[in-house]
Amino acid sequence: MLNNKILIVEDEEKLAGLLKDFLEKSNFEISIVYRGDEVENWLLKNPTDLIILDLMLPGKDGIEICKSVRQNSNVPIIMATARVEEIDRLIGLEIGADDYICKPYSPREVVARVKAVLRRSALTKSSLVIDNDSQSEEAEENVLQLFSDKIKVKFNELTSELTKVEFNLLKKMVDHPGSIFSREQLMDSIYDHQHIVNDRTIDSHIKKLRKKLTKIGMDPNPIHSVYGLGYKFD
Ligand code: CA
Repeated sequence: MLNNKILIVEDEEKLAGLLKDFLEKSNFEISIVYRGDEVENWLLKNPTDLIILDLMLPGKDGIEICKSVRQNSNVPIIMATARVEEIDRLIGLEIGADDYICKPYSPREVVARVKAVLRRSALTKSSLVIDNDSQSEEAEENVLQLFSDKIKVKFNELTSELTKVEFNLLKKMVDHPGSIFSREQLMDSIYDHQHIVNDRTIDSHIKKLRKKLTKIGMDPNPIHSVYGLGYKFD
């Protein structure tokens, strides 16, 4: 298996070096860029699986870099900032980073975050929502495909028709893999206007949906019930 390639963008050379050593011990392949204005050019030439991006950098700051990278790439980004209060502001700006970490951080913590973000991003790639059937009938291997126009799902060569409610439930969860949704949140997402429905209704739709996913060969089943909380797609 190929090692994940990680780019560290950090102007504090000592810190960057320390982080590099730690990540390399976890079998990541590490590159370092010390200036903000060199990042985009670097990314054009080097395939990258994740970026650890410092906020304050010479040349161009982390916010600007994150925004412009997002215009044509979904590469996972973990933003590092020196002030914890800064994190709320950054989230509010919706610059598109996948996670935030506060300095001083322990390299161990960064490694854990990197692994979690990479795992989430792999999950996102494991499912695909397709609006129009004509876009792709090419079956991608081991990718769950949701066809919005035909309200069906496809996994490898097998397809299953879904009801509108089942489709909306699945789509809601697929859009945020690994996130737990309460029954109430799921209800809100499937009905256009206020229906009187109870928890049992959701449970019964989920039960049918799980059956259909099993039938098209999804084993283990990706929909999990989380005791006392709700459901998640994982
Ligand atoms: Ca800095």
